[in-house]
Parts: sequence; C-alpha cells; structure tokens
Amino acid sequence: MKLTEEQGLKEIEGIVGAAHLLTDAATLAGYSVNMLATGDILPAAVVRPASTEELQQVVKIANTYKTPVWPLSGGQNRGYGMACAAKPGSIIIDLKRMNRILEVNVELAYALVEPGVTFAQLYRYLRDNDIPLWMDVPSGSPEGSCLGNITERGAGYTPLGEKFLFSCGMEVVLANGQVIRTGTGTLPNSQTWQIFKWGYGPSLDGLFTQSNFGIVTKAGFWLMPRPPAYEPLAVIMDEPEAVYKAVEVLRPLKLNMVIPNGACVTHVRKALGLTACWGEGKNILPQVGRRFDYSPETLRELKQTYRLGEWNFAGALYGLPETVQTYRRIVENAFRSALPGCRFLSAEEQAASPYWRAREKAMRGEPLWEFDMSDWEGKAGALWISPVAPVTNDAVGQQIRIAEETYAKYGFHYAAELILGTGRDLHHIIWLLFDRSDAEERSRAEQCEREMYDRYCEVGYLPYRTGLSTGDYLMRKLGPFRDLCHDLKQLFDPNNILSPGKSGIDLANRS
Ligand code: ADP
Repeated sequence: MKLTEEQGLKEIEGIVGAAHLLTDAATLAGYSVNMLATGDILPAAVVRPASTEELQQVVKIANTYKTPVWPLSGGQNRGYGMACAAKPGSIIIDLKRMNRILEVNVELAYALVEPGVTFAQLYRYLRDNDIPLWMDVPSGSPEGSCLGNITERGAGYTPLGEKFLFSCGMEVVLANGQVIRTGTGTLPNSQTWQIFKWGYGPSLDGLFTQSNFGIVTKAGFWLMPRPPAYEPLAVIMDEPEAVYKAVEVLRPLKLNMVIPNGACVTHVRKALGLTACWGEGKNILPQVGRRFDYSPETLRELKQTYRLGEWNFAGALYGLPETVQTYRRIVENAFRSALPGCRFLSAEEQAASPYWRAREKAMRGEPLWEFDMSDWEGKAGALWISPVAPVTNDAVGQQIRIAEETYAKYGFHYAAELILGTGRDLHHIIWLLFDRSDAEERSRAEQCEREMYDRYCEVGYLPYRTGLSTGDYLMRKLGPFRDLCHDLKQLFDPNNILSPGKSGIDLANRS
C-alpha cells in the first residue's frame, strides 16, 4: 500500500497536525517546478514537521509504506532545479518550521542552526543583537537555508566561502528514523561539537552532502570576527583576454592569503544580470533581456553607466588598518604590472553602481537577492553550469572556449563568474538563461547543459553540483564511484525512500 493512500497520510497528519499536511492543488503546484522538466513534477503531499522528533516519526511512516520523501530546507535550490523532487508522487518534507538558531557562540565564533534558518534570519539576528561576527552568504536568495547550502556544498564570498569546509558537526535523521550526530557530537555530552570537525573514527559528514543517505536536522558552522578594517576592491578590465592575466595575478595573492575571500572575476554579461536586480539597475532589465542579446552599442553604454569592464574583479581585504593598506598596495602593484589598462574604482565609484554595492555587501556577509533575471516576464528559466578549474590561465582558457563554442551552437550567450576558493581551485559558474514557456528553447537548454557536461568531463573537469534533471546523467560518467554510492544507499536506505534520484543515486535505477 502506498502512503499517498488515505491511511498513511492520516498517520502523518496525526504527527504534525492537519494544518501541516498539505495536499491542495495550489500548495502542490508551488513545489512542482523543475527548471528543465517537461511539465511539472507534482508531489503527492507537503508535510511540515516542527521538530526532529516529528520528522523521525514522519520518516518512519514513509519507510514503513516505502513512499519516497524529499527534504527541502530553505526550499529555493535556485539555479539547480528549484523546490521540487526529482520524481512525481513524492512527499515533500519542508523543514522551514524547524527554524531555530540554537546557538551563536561569540567567543569561539560559530553557530548551530536548524534547517529552516535562512541567511536573512541569521544576518538580522547578528545585527540586531550587535554580535561582532560576520557570516558567509552565497549568491542567490536571502531566503535560502544556511544548512541547505552546506549540504549542497555551496560557495560564498567571504573568507568562509567554502561552506562545507567551514561547517562543523551535523545531526542527521536516517531512513529508519534513527538520529545520529557527526564529528565529536558522537559523544552525547560533547563540549567540542562545533569547534573540532573530525571527531574520532571515520569522518562521516561528507556522506550527508549532495546525497540522499539522511536528512540533516542541525548543522554547525564557523563565523568570522568582524575585522577592524575591511577594504573591498573593485577592478575593471576592458580587454576580453584580461581574465587570463587576472587569474595569473590572483593565484599567488590567493595562495598566500593576501586576498582571503571568495573573490570573483565576473564577465560583463553576468555583472549586468546582477545589476538588473538592484536599485536603479532594475531599469535595465528590458535592455538586458533573458537572452543577453543586446547590441555592442547598448553594451558599451551600459558598461559606462554602471562602471563595468568586460571583466570585473571583486575581492576584499580584512584585518588591521595598517595591514589592509599594505596588502592593498601589493594587490594594486600586481594588477597594474600585468594589466596596465585596468582601473581600481574608488569607494565613491563603487557606491554609485548597483553591481559594486552588492559585491561590497556580499563580501562582508550581507545576503542579497540576485534572481530578477530569471524572473524575466515570469517565465525565464535559469541554470548554473558549474565546472571547477585549476587557477591557471590555460585551464580557464580551455573552459571558456568550451562554454563559448557550446553556447554558440545552441544559441545562448556566455555569462559567467569565476569564484576563487583556496587559490588552487575556482568555481566557473556559467549562467544559462532560457524561456521555460517555450518547449523548443527549454529542450535546447537541456541539450546544451548535457553537452557542456560531456565536453568538460571529457577533458577532466567535474561540475561541483548539478541540477535535478542531470544528476543521473553526470553520475553515470563516474564508474565505480557510482556503484559505491548505490552500495551505501542500500546500507543507509534499503527502501529507497530518501530523495531517490538525488545526485543520480536511486536504487530503482542502479543498473
Ligand atoms: P536552498 O534553500 O539553499 O536553496 P533547498 O532547501 O532548496 O536549498 O535545498 C536544496 C537541496 O538540498 C534539496 O533539493 C535537497 O536535495 C537538499 N537538502 C536540503 N535540505 C536538506 C536536509 N536538511 N538534509 C538533506 N538534504 C537536504
């Protein structure tokens, strides 16, 4: 018997209360939009547990009836599929009601939160309580989940941008309803759960990221002390080849931690896409359009008005006033000797441009909205294709060539941002904008995405994350790793109830 039938749903209703088990058409429609799917993927129900205990009961029932569930934390998943399960008929478990900030430790600079805690909520909490700590934010939506972004291994713009690297300790509900803790949280009275990542024995946290082996109900992560001095750097570069030189300039500055944050080099089309999301920049939405297909004259004019180059570097320095000024001179000299035509914008110039204002905020952890581009006429689709590259001009050149060739073949325009992590790797986040309401264009976008994965994997570049529709496509390229993931799925979730299809892991589809 399937849980969607009356009895199972009645049992769930008994746990969460009638107000939090939703099956009406309007609610289900809100959880059914998958960017690339032909038609919507309708769930059977949406359940909103209030606590780990309620969630445990819900999962136990789903496991008994062998009905798939799909957890969402902030419920955004923008750019990678939206708030939706991979398959129809699942029960969406929306964790938004579990939204307690359980601890912010000022002395040791960390937080412990539940899944429903959003970036905006934590930001307000730190600000309103005058807590001298900064958090990391990714791009996207302030309503995204701090915990959800850790489980997806998102990247952000402060020195704590590698979200999973700076996470510390998880609580997880397994498919049989059991609760476990990772790291030193394995000791019930641990005093070091949020400060020492590794615990004792195998380190399991990674198993619960981009996977479907458990539902994470608590996550710890580190914050940074608010620095005495903060200096955002905005550099505009007008040659199309500037990106290759910039990467070479930035590698040693990043490796030596002169520039410690998730700094980015952004192509003008992406920068204009972001400009269109804020303040006076919103006026340009009709000009920029969902296909970025404006004329060279319009592009020139927009660059001038919004103080943008063909490529744009945003990074930041943090520390004491003296060290920040010394480091600024080092960075300026490095850029100027390699790129004599580049220009450092003054604080006033940055403040006059919505794009640079937004960067300045993101690099000190203020969450920002950046999706008006994908809301274009209410029907645009947006995907991010995100291969990782070494920080070398050869690798970046190879990746940009592949993207430009493939996008030209499918009739799209390249628009991207390179986010530099440790100085060794960068996330090449390539925006694909298309009209969801046009079946032909949507199918072209899907083919384009798959061909990008084919071409990048062929030369050894793996995306750091995929959308809901392409998990299986990518996972099938990974040979024995795919087999091992399915063996683990069998161990953790033999009834295949947790997010089947997530990252291409699905026992029904393992051969
Ligand atoms: P965000 O709010 O950051 O956009 P979502 O809540 O939409 O993120 O989650 C994105 C994806 O991450 C979901 O589709 C799901 O696969 C996974 N996920 C979210 N929350 C959890 C969780 N608590 N435990 C395990 N996986 C999760």
